[in-house]
Amino acid sequence: MKSETGQSAVQVVKPGESRGVLYIVATPIGNLDDLSPRAVKVLSDVAVIAAEDTRHSGRLLQHLGISKPLIALHDHNERGRVQNILEQLRAGADVALISDAGTPLISDPGYVLVREVRAAGMRVSPIPGPCALVAALSAAGLPTDRFLFVGFLPAKPAGRRAALAELRKEAATLVFYESPHRILGAVTDIADVLGAQREIVLGREITKTFETFYSGGAADVLATLAADPHGSRGEFVVMVRGADKTEAGMMAGALDVDHLLGLLMAELPLKKVAKLASGLTGLSKNELYQRALELKEG
Ligand code: SAM
Repeated sequence: MKSETGQSAVQVVKPGESRGVLYIVATPIGNLDDLSPRAVKVLSDVAVIAAEDTRHSGRLLQHLGISKPLIALHDHNERGRVQNILEQLRAGADVALISDAGTPLISDPGYVLVREVRAAGMRVSPIPGPCALVAALSAAGLPTDRFLFVGFLPAKPAGRRAALAELRKEAATLVFYESPHRILGAVTDIADVLGAQREIVLGREITKTFETFYSGGAADVLATLAADPHGSRGEFVVMVRGADKTEAGMMAGALDVDHLLGLLMAELPLKKVAKLASGLTGLSKNELYQRALELKEG
């Protein structure tokens, strides 16, 4: 945003400076008792509630004894709904945005709305609460000083593997959301691309009756999950320990390792290449084999 002088203008919106307020309200990710008293108060007080799925949210509101006009706001109609919500805010009505579960905008709709409401100089105020990624990370026992939330990985294996390959040298803890029917495929690819020994933690059905945390090396967690008849049921947060110094070093010096692999590949079959390169660099034979395969496939 630029001022008349061409300088960047800073927008400051404080309480009392906007007629209607857009509240971004977090709702439970499984356990209804996690809804905060403040969230209940705001949902009771606003004029209108914008919800990702009005039928789904209607049940939550019914449970709370709250009856309000609901506006559907989802990925496919968000742009169209913005004007309508802006008009309500300009007229002085407070509006709440909720999603099916957790915090709106976190892998959920609302970005366009929040951006436009703020651009119009109106107040947007968060009512914080449940969020699967924060809940999962808080109990995983993985480093939390730096983490990278990636959202959902691509659905198809080729895209998923490519996305993971880009994250191979990332030192921060990685956090993904995953659906039950793709969890086994995702963990398989994590073990293949990031390494069978890479420490991972899966948080399943967090705050619900069957809340389960799986932790260990990626290949071991995969085997445990595959052997559990209920293993791939429910919702998952997937967390992966960031690359350690050896992995990061391998990637930082990727050119050298690639150069070495290239030289050996010109003379030897891949298995021997991986074995020799592992002896020379001290890096994992499997990972070097994987890397050599990638180089071979271009
Ligand atoms: N906005 C939500 C939040 O704040 O966490 C996330 C919405 S996203 C569409 C849904 C994904 O969040 C699920 O596929 C799953 O990966 C994760 N998720 C939601 N609830 C969960 C729970 N109770 N346990 C584990 N993962 C959950």
